[in-house]
Amino acid sequence: MLSLLLSLRFGCTGCGDPIEATLQCESAADQDGGAAVKIACPGCRTRNQVIFTPDGTIHGVTRARTYERIPEMSLN
Ligand SMILES: [Zn+2]
Repeated sequence: MLSLLLSLRFGCTGCGDPIEATLQCESAADQDGGAAVKIACPGCRTRNQVIFTPDGTIHGVTRARTYERIPEMSLN
């Protein structure tokens, strides 16, 4: 199974600070339209939903809904 290490950089939707997150992305989990991951800002704790494709391109960042149950991502 292929495993990709992706480095995503985006601006926090809450405080605007740049966030860099490294993700381990397994190819089996990829979707044709891209994948989404939710990453909490280490500064303001806002949850950002990042839409990306496995080549590391970010297609959009939105504020994630807080009432969803979301597994926590660990930030490096
Ligand atoms: Zn923030």
